[in-house]
Amino acid sequence: MIDPRDQSPAELHRLAANLGADDAAVRKLLTAVVTRGEFDRRAWGERFGVTRRLTDHIGDLPRLRLETTVTSAVDGFQKLKFITADGLALETVIIPLHKEGAVSVCLSSQVGCAMGCVFCATARMTSRRNLATWEIIDQWMQVRAIAQASGKRVTGAVFMGMGEPFLNYDRVIAAAELLRCPYAGQTAGSAITISTVGLVPEIDRYTNERHPFRLSISLGAATDEKRARLVPVAARTRVADVMAAARRHALARRDRVMLSYVCISGENVSEEDARALGELVGDTPVRLDLIDVTDPTGRFSPPTPEELRAFRDALTTHLGQPVVRRYSGGKDIQAACGTLAGTG
Ligand code: SF4
Repeated sequence: MIDPRDQSPAELHRLAANLGADDAAVRKLLTAVVTRGEFDRRAWGERFGVTRRLTDHIGDLPRLRLETTVTSAVDGFQKLKFITADGLALETVIIPLHKEGAVSVCLSSQVGCAMGCVFCATARMTSRRNLATWEIIDQWMQVRAIAQASGKRVTGAVFMGMGEPFLNYDRVIAAAELLRCPYAGQTAGSAITISTVGLVPEIDRYTNERHPFRLSISLGAATDEKRARLVPVAARTRVADVMAAARRHALARRDRVMLSYVCISGENVSEEDARALGELVGDTPVRLDLIDVTDPTGRFSPPTPEELRAFRDALTTHLGQPVVRRYSGGKDIQAACGTLAGTG
């Protein structure tokens, strides 16, 4: 049986064709289920005109169980805790955007994460598995329903929640394709960002496949020695190799590649770190996003305002490329980057 949310639109078209259903039936089915959130199978035929030839092959469509929703009193970020059919907890974050009435969604791609970044709560979770494409899409659909109930629209999506998206490459790309599809998620490709901590073969695959989504490569630090301490699993690949893949991506796209950098006081925000970053990046066109570390255990703290100012000044000297400070919100509800742990 088929779940229309569990593969890319192109794959669904192929499956449907094998059943003798035409492309129009697939478009109607995705519109009914994903765009309109219609789970009543009778309505698919009666209201949307999907042929029996296709609906007869659609199985029950499971949902993630929404257990809790908490809202930050500080900045309005919302964290949703879902429970999977096999009893695992995962979290999704609703991010208010500057544009009135618009929100973005931070999606999880795995339960837990095997990358072991030392500042990240997700890395400390024990249970780990890839999420199915439908489990990623269902996060988005439930967020959209919540947003719509308060008169808001979901205009973007970032794969920056639990997990390393490129360890679940095929399902994440299929989910992003569904979100971008004009008769499914209807989200602009440029409003969808996929983040990776630097898996070189997958970055190259992604570049070669020419996906329209944005890629964000998280460095951790600019030297192998510091990366080995902060992002130990990712550091098994030399940072120069990660940067070379980032450069190939930038050149293929003819655009700046987005690098993200988690700033940790006393660890990776010195003048020396800025110089190392400048040497690493060289003339590759980049945009560097700086994110404050959030570590509920208190082991790592964000840079002080003075430290950050000095680091940014040093980056102006040594990197000389656009640097953006990215806000990581929902700190009071453990919704910030690196704090998702399935604890609600
Ligand atoms: S920061 Fe991202 S890649 Fe690293 S352990 Fe956490 S979820 Fe995984």
